[in-house]
Amino acid sequence: MSGMERTTDEWQRIDVEHHLHPFTDPRYFDKKAPLIVTRADGMHVWDSSGRQILDGMAGLWCVNVGYGRKELIEAANRQMSTLAYYNVFFQSATPPQIELSRLLAEVTPEGLDHIFFANSGSEANDTIIRMVRHFWEVQGQPDKHVFIGRKLGYHGSTVAATSLGGMQNMHAMGRSLLPGFEHIMHPHWYLEGGDMDPDEFGLKAARALEDKILELGADNVAAFIGEPIQGAGGVIDAPRTYWPEIERICRKYDVLLVVDEVICGFGRTGEWFGCQTYGVMPDLMPMAKGLSSGYLPIAAVAYNERVHKVLKDGGLFSHGYTYSGHPVACAVAIANIDLIRRDKLVERVRDDVGPYFHDRLKAAVGDHPLVGEVRGKGLLAGVQLVKDRDSRTLFDTADNVAMRVRDLCLERGLIMRAVGQSMVASPALIVKRAQIDEMADILADSLNAAAREFGMA
Ligand code: PMP
Repeated sequence: MSGMERTTDEWQRIDVEHHLHPFTDPRYFDKKAPLIVTRADGMHVWDSSGRQILDGMAGLWCVNVGYGRKELIEAANRQMSTLAYYNVFFQSATPPQIELSRLLAEVTPEGLDHIFFANSGSEANDTIIRMVRHFWEVQGQPDKHVFIGRKLGYHGSTVAATSLGGMQNMHAMGRSLLPGFEHIMHPHWYLEGGDMDPDEFGLKAARALEDKILELGADNVAAFIGEPIQGAGGVIDAPRTYWPEIERICRKYDVLLVVDEVICGFGRTGEWFGCQTYGVMPDLMPMAKGLSSGYLPIAAVAYNERVHKVLKDGGLFSHGYTYSGHPVACAVAIANIDLIRRDKLVERVRDDVGPYFHDRLKAAVGDHPLVGEVRGKGLLAGVQLVKDRDSRTLFDTADNVAMRVRDLCLERGLIMRAVGQSMVASPALIVKRAQIDEMADILADSLNAAAREFGMA
């Protein structure tokens, strides 16, 4: 039996027996069986019992054009039949990889005209580490090797990407913090800003970078990396003073600026890329997720002329993945970008559904006793849960408040994600206003239920 037609119980039993889930405590399944998702269309997924659920997360922040788009499916089908695979190592190239390189040079901010392909955000960031260190080595500055990231930053789950990120629990597992990686404070005004106004706090948080560079010596620092909005950290968007100051500091000390667009890229914040929303110009830019709307695994690193010139004369670039520039994944990414352009999805987020999303969320839950802050940009939102609004006091970690709200949302037919003590959402860019209303109403209802359970209503 191929196993495509089983009962929910069977699927759940086999899954728990044979599959280790990423970022999941296996004991969770003692209490609650896995959700088996069997199909999807547009904004919705269906579980194995046939229940329709509104996907407020676009999968894992990635299905930007929504599920079931025939343009992407047909592109995969066509390319699979024409050339299912060939590599781009040595001196080979394929038409989809060539076209996608050109297209990415076009849609990324001006000046980022050179592309390297990988298969995941983690691999893109591993590539960045090797590429940037090589960049300095070629120029006779091998000591310029340290990467500075941020606490609660997320850049992936390979050993190197784990080190780049600032998740302490990930560092602790498997001795995964390599030497040569440092982390500064994250710019979360609501929890870290105290009495400062946001702009003042933004400058303070950015100047932690200058302090760190001075502590390490600029001659030892290769690059700074940050997400425009820290997604997996809880949708932390910095005050508007932060990014320009970060850029100024990077330029002053000749530290390369890497902006991780894996979540923010391809329209999510209302511009093609998050760095455009914040008005900064990176030297290198990793991207994944929305590049193919998650239909196939593909990632890319875009980099500027300065990096290109050095790499061009830097000798053998000893790096690459068998599936770098995979033709089928590239064909799907091209169809995806064409669709985003044709349907003006980026403009839609900027002018219509993005502002509506934040207005509706704020109206529905902004004054709720469990909510401290609604934050984010475009179709990326974080709702900070608090035990006490006035003192900005959080719950005990053991209360698992966000996980509870997540489960309450799911019972009511909505997928949102719990991150620490925040609820986060990133619906597909095709989301309709009525679906945003539905999300806001279900979240409000779930928060009411949680408040009753936690004795706050
Ligand atoms: N960077 C960022 C900003 C991410 O959010 C993620 C994944 N959530 C990654 C990198 C890693 O991507 P992947 O899971 O495809 O390796």
